[in-house]
Amino acid sequence: MARRPGRNFLFVPGPTNVPDRVLRAMMVAQEDHRSPIFPELIKPAFEGLKKVYKTTEGQVFIFPSSGTGGWEAALANTLAPGDKVLNSRFGQFSHLWTDMAQRLGLDVQVLEEEWGTGAHEEKIEEALTKDTAHEIKAVMVVHNETATGVTSNIAAIRKAMDNAKHPALLLVDSVSGLGSIDFRFDEWKVDCAVSGSQKGLMLPAGLGFVAVSQKALNLRKNSKLNKVYFDFQDHINTNGSGYFPYTPATNLFHGLREALRCIEEEGLENIFHRHAVLARATRAAVDAWGLKLCAKSERWHSDTVSAIVVPEGIDAAKIIRHAYDRYNLALGAGLSKVAGKVFRIGHIGDLNELMLLGAIAGAEMAMLDNGVNIKAGSGVGAAQDYLRDNPIERQAATPKAA
Ligand SMILES: *Cc1c(COP(=O)(O)O)cnc(C)c1O
Repeated sequence: MARRPGRNFLFVPGPTNVPDRVLRAMMVAQEDHRSPIFPELIKPAFEGLKKVYKTTEGQVFIFPSSGTGGWEAALANTLAPGDKVLNSRFGQFSHLWTDMAQRLGLDVQVLEEEWGTGAHEEKIEEALTKDTAHEIKAVMVVHNETATGVTSNIAAIRKAMDNAKHPALLLVDSVSGLGSIDFRFDEWKVDCAVSGSQKGLMLPAGLGFVAVSQKALNLRKNSKLNKVYFDFQDHINTNGSGYFPYTPATNLFHGLREALRCIEEEGLENIFHRHAVLARATRAAVDAWGLKLCAKSERWHSDTVSAIVVPEGIDAAKIIRHAYDRYNLALGAGLSKVAGKVFRIGHIGDLNELMLLGAIAGAEMAMLDNGVNIKAGSGVGAAQDYLRDNPIERQAATPKAA
């Protein structure tokens, strides 16, 4: 293919843009992962991730895997074959996690929800209240359903579980939420929270994270599901001294250190604010186009990804292909049930206003080129208006010098 000048506009909701300084930090020589100085790289990574998870009580595990490996680790280390688990299904990721649980030999009670909505806490409460024998061992929930751009309310789900006075574990997938939208591991009494490196954490794919509560850790002896590579115990035996039971992805750890510094410098709350502003600007554009989000109402809106429904008779896959070929813009595809019906703009990770405006402009042109009846400039104009009124900088993380 001919050289394509300028940058590719990467607007899929993961992998996300990696800051240049993080890329540079990873360009280091290979090293001995059993050297005496290796723990200096590793130990702060666990501490930094705990801050991102907002946990002091939980323990973080890091696997050389993608987020899917984190899913498997969370299930395999807490449950036994035949255990009953509850999962709400409303998109491709909540579907795949259900499928994994079934393939691992768990008995999944699925709460089917309309795509474009999320986990309904009242239904979870009802299911748990009915389960007087406490057969349900875990409630699984996808915090941010990346396929449809839907965020569920984890605090409300915790409250529902407490209302039902049910002892089930709370297992959360926040692969496309952590580090971009608020996540409070301790406050929400989450038992396992799965994430990955290539979304809000602004790294390449290749690290799977799981934060685990003491309650869940105490259950690991009874967790009879097979596991070897993902066994928490092997990591517990080595992580404390700054090592791993097998070769860790050493270069990614250099990137992780730099990404955690970026997060620290900007400040988590500022990062959440920036994502909220950029998401609202995107939604202003969608409104101005006269189009709808896949998310059915405001309560479900995700601040990290917007899935935009194209008009009847238009193939969203063609728009995505055209945006890539003609404008060097990568938009997210519709997955499974919504394939061809939506395209997604990922507004997650290391991005700012003008980058987002570029993506909105590109999406707008790609839609116009494919016969979508919108007005050129309408989405960009609406987003500009929103962004001019709403700075992404909430407050400087460190006070500016006088
Ligand atoms: C990306 C993603 C995953 C899967 O992560 P991989 O890194 O592709 O294995 C799981 N859940 C959600 C919500 C995601 O967005």
